[in-house]
Amino acid sequence: LVRLRERLSRSNSALGQGLLALLSRDTLDEATWEEVEETLLLADVGFGPTTEIVDALRERVKVLGTREPALLREMLREELLRAVGTDVDRTLRTTRHADRPAVIMVVGVNGTGKTTTVGKLARVLVAEDKDVVLGAADTFRAAAAEQLATWGDRVGVPTVRSDKDGADPASVAFDAVKQGIDDEVDVVIVDTAGRLQNKVGLMDELGKVKRVVERHGPVDEVLLVLDATTGQNGLRQAAVFSEVVDVTGIVLTKLDGTAKGGIVVAVQRSLDVPVKLIGLGEGPDDLAPFDPEAFVDALLS
Ligand code: GDP
Repeated sequence: LVRLRERLSRSNSALGQGLLALLSRDTLDEATWEEVEETLLLADVGFGPTTEIVDALRERVKVLGTREPALLREMLREELLRAVGTDVDRTLRTTRHADRPAVIMVVGVNGTGKTTTVGKLARVLVAEDKDVVLGAADTFRAAAAEQLATWGDRVGVPTVRSDKDGADPASVAFDAVKQGIDDEVDVVIVDTAGRLQNKVGLMDELGKVKRVVERHGPVDEVLLVLDATTGQNGLRQAAVFSEVVDVTGIVLTKLDGTAKGGIVVAVQRSLDVPVKLIGLGEGPDDLAPFDPEAFVDALLS
């Protein structure tokens, strides 16, 4: 939590500090409220949520007639929290079923941090004493499977992969889950391909991977990895993916390197899917469950 605060606040506190500075001006006039709006939009909060936050703040300031900084800060905190959503179920389903492991599919465009996220997630689960198997279903590039296997070695879990380039991704994913069943592990995490250049092919492939894996039983989580630094582009990617697979959670990566933490709000709103995990760096321990309170506090710290 301390690290979360450090990492997030280093890049995002400009947002919180900017908003607090605006709110503590001598006069809260129309121009100031417009600046508040601009600040939120620049942090990628998105148009709808921004309007809601500003309207609510304006109304509350008007009704209360207060300019007390501590109160204004608390109001801002509450409105940001409301926008982020506190009553959303962000639980990651990683509990083994009676006869088979929990299965997590990780999808997203190349470069967003998919493979790194699989590695970090495996590390988190191992730390919870869970047995994990990784599946390298990005068979298009040998380097992708290699990278995943390296993560597997690093965190001490086996990686199921194909010997040959261009093997059928669905069959590798199927084999990974099969091994997970045979070895009675708790969780199988399947890394998938993300070449968006060939959109139709990729989407067909992902749908097929999921269907084939589900011959063993339903997939528990489909996590969509989005790079927080890509803004609207990330939102468009998210829409494309959610058309072919039922995304159950979002992983927002690279939140350590951006002042655009507001994307958390925008992406949840546009997909109606909760942000469940956030990436805060390249190391094995740089993945955290998304905690709205800690997040908003970090913004305002
Ligand atoms: P993939 O192509 O989607 O599998 O992406 P990779 O897992 O290979 O990650 C792409 C790059 O992003 C790598 O250099 C990672 O180290 C980096 N990366 C992944 N997650 C994070 C994160 O949360 N923060 C930062 N700063 N870098 C990250």
